[in-house]
Amino acid sequence: MYPANFDYIRPRSVDEAVRLLQQHGDEAKVLAGGHSLIPAMKLRLATPKVVLDIARIAELSYIRRAGDRIAIGATTTHVDIETSTVLREASPLLAETASHIGDVQVRNKGTIGGSLIHADPAADYPAAILALEAEIDLVGPRGTRTVRAADFFVDLLQSAAAPDELLTEIRVPATAPSVAYEKTEQKASGFAIAGVAVVAWPGGVRVGVTGVAPKAYRATAVESTLGTGRSADAIALAALRAAEGIHPLADIHATAEYRAHLAQINTRRALERAFARA
Ligand code: FAD
Repeated sequence: MYPANFDYIRPRSVDEAVRLLQQHGDEAKVLAGGHSLIPAMKLRLATPKVVLDIARIAELSYIRRAGDRIAIGATTTHVDIETSTVLREASPLLAETASHIGDVQVRNKGTIGGSLIHADPAADYPAAILALEAEIDLVGPRGTRTVRAADFFVDLLQSAAAPDELLTEIRVPATAPSVAYEKTEQKASGFAIAGVAVVAWPGGVRVGVTGVAPKAYRATAVESTLGTGRSADAIALAALRAAEGIHPLADIHATAEYRAHLAQINTRRALERAFARA
């Protein structure tokens, strides 16, 4: 299958990319790793007249300390996140999550910015992004705005970014070592049927769930039930609330009941593993 014809432009800077996005409006699409956009174009689900390839804008690819946070550029690939010493030492949840994405080819080309903007309900990062309470920078004609993780995932395949905004940076805390990501995946693609990310500290936990609902969510019922409890019984009881208030997706990969069950199982496993790391 071939996509519809389009013009290909490779902006050299963030400023140029933002200017071009504004200039071409709804007719333009940003291309990063292309692992979601190109299939959509081949299926004619997306038919941009102009494709802006940002993959080689050097100022968008980095992982570095920024005070008590770690800043990650939008076009940083999954493999760079998976293998980052900075992340693995100070905030290993994203690195662990990236290691679960697809296969080597997907991890070599796919980017964190593309994955977050695409907001696929079965993508892995959103669970970790929510559990880490990450911040996401969007740059557009009106300047830069920072969106909290809790406000970023709006609906199925819909993020908080406007069509004329470029995602430039993601920031996560540099002090979240007691973490874990547990996932049951679709066997062919690796996408999550139910993925659970946990950040734990002595005073509490944060739990992010992906793959289960039309958008990733915080399992706040688990967080409040568990509180500072750490016993096996307390963990098992809290994990039962992993899909509370959620209408789980049902498709050829899993029924709604099975997804809710997997959310509970993976929540228990992720909590146990995060606490074991404390
Ligand atoms: P692209 O496809 O280039 O872009 C995706 C969307 O984001 C487009 O709308 C594009 O315009 C927009 N965009 C990209 N970057 C920006 C930016 N900086 N600012 C504004 N808009 C932007 N994902 C998982 O999480 N887990 C998996 O197990 C998994 N398995 C996969 C298996 C296969 C076979 C394939 C093909 C993909 C899989 N993916 C999986 C998806 C993969 O992680 C993609 O890399 C990701 O969804 C999109 O990132 P990308 O860089 O390829 O973005």
